[in-house]
Amino acid sequence: MLHTEIAYLKGVGPKRAELLQKEVRIFTFNDLLQYYPFRYVDRSKRHQIRDVFEGAQEVQLQGTLLSISEVGAARKKRLVAVFKDDTGTIDLIWFKGVKWIKSSLAIGKEYLVYGRVNRYGSKFSIPHPEIEEVKNFKQIEGYLQPIYHSGDKLSARGLNSKGFEKILHNLIVQLNGIIVEVLSKEILTNYNLIGKEEALNQIHFPHSLEQAKKASFRLKFEELFFLQLQMIKQKQVAQKKTQGFVFRKVSTHFNTFFNDYLPFELTGAQKRVMKEIRKDMGSGLHMNRMLQGDVGSGKTLVALLSILIALDNGFQTCLMAPTEILAAQHYNSIKEFVGQMGIEVALLTGSVKTAQRKIIHSKLEDGSLGILIGTHALIEDKVKFKNIGLAVIDEQHRFGVAQRAKLWRKNLQPPHVLVMTATPIPRTLAMTFYGDLDVSVIDELPPGRKPIETRHYYDKNRLKVFQFMEHEIAKGRQIYIVYPLIEESEKIDYKDLMDGYESISRRFPVPKFQVSIVHGRMKAADKEYEMNQFAAGKTQIMVATTVIEVGVNVPNASVMIIESAEKFGLSQLHQLRGRVGRGAEQSHCLLMTSFKLSQEAKKRIGTLVRTNDGFEIAEVDLKMRGPGDIMGTQQSGLLDLKIADLARDGQIVQLARDAASQVLLDDPDLMHKKNYEMRTQLFRQIKNRPDWSRIS
Ligand code: ADP
Ligand code: MG
Repeated sequence: MLHTEIAYLKGVGPKRAELLQKEVRIFTFNDLLQYYPFRYVDRSKRHQIRDVFEGAQEVQLQGTLLSISEVGAARKKRLVAVFKDDTGTIDLIWFKGVKWIKSSLAIGKEYLVYGRVNRYGSKFSIPHPEIEEVKNFKQIEGYLQPIYHSGDKLSARGLNSKGFEKILHNLIVQLNGIIVEVLSKEILTNYNLIGKEEALNQIHFPHSLEQAKKASFRLKFEELFFLQLQMIKQKQVAQKKTQGFVFRKVSTHFNTFFNDYLPFELTGAQKRVMKEIRKDMGSGLHMNRMLQGDVGSGKTLVALLSILIALDNGFQTCLMAPTEILAAQHYNSIKEFVGQMGIEVALLTGSVKTAQRKIIHSKLEDGSLGILIGTHALIEDKVKFKNIGLAVIDEQHRFGVAQRAKLWRKNLQPPHVLVMTATPIPRTLAMTFYGDLDVSVIDELPPGRKPIETRHYYDKNRLKVFQFMEHEIAKGRQIYIVYPLIEESEKIDYKDLMDGYESISRRFPVPKFQVSIVHGRMKAADKEYEMNQFAAGKTQIMVATTVIEVGVNVPNASVMIIESAEKFGLSQLHQLRGRVGRGAEQSHCLLMTSFKLSQEAKKRIGTLVRTNDGFEIAEVDLKMRGPGDIMGTQQSGLLDLKIADLARDGQIVQLARDAASQVLLDDPDLMHKKNYEMRTQLFRQIKNRPDWSRIS
């Protein structure tokens, strides 16, 4: 019954069915059932016309018509009815269906009018109100009118909100008694959920707002529960299917480095994460782990320690980074860490010459090269390992799924995979999108770091900023100045960057000052040269576009100035800020903006000034932008949630996750009788929504 075509529902028919399919993708009874209202209006309330003048926007009035007249020339004809109650009069206006509506109205009758108030200057009117004779209006105690999304095309065929209400009413009547409960009694009781049928009735036609809330909670829970059930199940299956190399030993490489070369103590968080990784790599199961840690939290070292364990067990490893600069930097710091230990490390990027490339290829194939660092150059088919056991991916969100999958296939048996990200993903999203991944979190910065001080300046206060810069340079610090580069307005942005560079060069002239510049239009070699100059302290100011966004590490740089900060997203701002605050000095971040700021820009800037906590920032970002923008529409589109909202329903996600893991713990294959309906529902879902979330 639920899968009956929508055309067969009373009140729909073929024409409307076609429209429903096209406009709102409603094909079946079930689709319509899940077309939930987005709010309710209390139709038991009456307003007076007086309220309208005081700003009420959506009103229900009771009164009579004083006059009904057609106004305007033939093609622009509209119907105006003057409506009156004890407190005043207001115009009701129709632009469409003039003839028909006119014939259905009469002066002197008592009407109930409902609609949105429009205001032109001091004149108020209600366009296209709902109007009904009072004697026909069934006054249901506490009637809450559900409001549904509609559109012009739908409305033109009678499917405005009221129209949806009617067909949904027909549907609910028809489905009476045949809606099956899909959650077990246990879960209903434990999580205090109302039954499915009741929930569906109450979400569309609630007896009270409280009932509507209970219904929505129940339906959200169900939706998220099955999502989590699927994620956890998939993870179990994948782990069973994919054998992992067993890294039994921790020996020479690791121990020598740890005892003789590690220049500092690991932070508590680094230790904990290393334990998790070692356990994975020694378990015989395949590791598929995401390492989240704020910028500067020391992820590279964790990667290196994991790499050393792989080497100890006779395997090769690779570390892939999204940009050449970043790859080069990893290469340099890892070489510095392990160079003296006689471990060979190679760098492979697009700009490596063919001769060098050939050497790297052959060393990979004969197994003599243990650590390969590079950009996506290292996933090319030509790059073959003798026995790769671990692949580390830095800043994983920069890589596409296909690129990651290629790494995965570098061996007959896939290498362990560790993906690292400095863009904290809010817990609810991580659980949902990467629910089949294990997540480790470094939630502690190395000791001695001072929180970055962030301030907001309007452009007109630039002179103060220049003074501040001069002051910091005098103390021996270095400064980044970052300009936005947005593809659509690339030309203008590029000009801004060059203008900025010029005025900085004028204000901070040679020979006393040295200014570097790095942007996307430069050759890789030139970029690298400039970066190196800055890293070596030979230039004090680095003017750049966001090419420096990820990973760059120059501890002596303690000031980050972000130009047109209003043009950047929250997480990008946070990433950029993370370039400073890496040394022992107090660091600063200055956000420069024009005076006029949108509400949203203000909120972003305010958040950044207030907090340094990447997870808190990620939560704000999620609330402001929604999961689609954060994860990419492709991924969140596949989710296609009908009622739950990952940005708002974080707590329910957590509950649903707990419930799902508990169920699978007790009954891994859902074979118990009490779980029969859940199993059926899960299979149905997996059929419609295949595995999209594997990221490696
Ligand atoms: P990210 O997590 O952003 O990749 P990095 O790995 O680049 O951070 O580390 C940032 C800096 O902190 C590096 O200079 C690194 O050597 C240093 N670092 C890492 N771990 C520690 C530690 N436990 N104690 C002190 N400094 C550390
Ligand atoms: Mg890093």
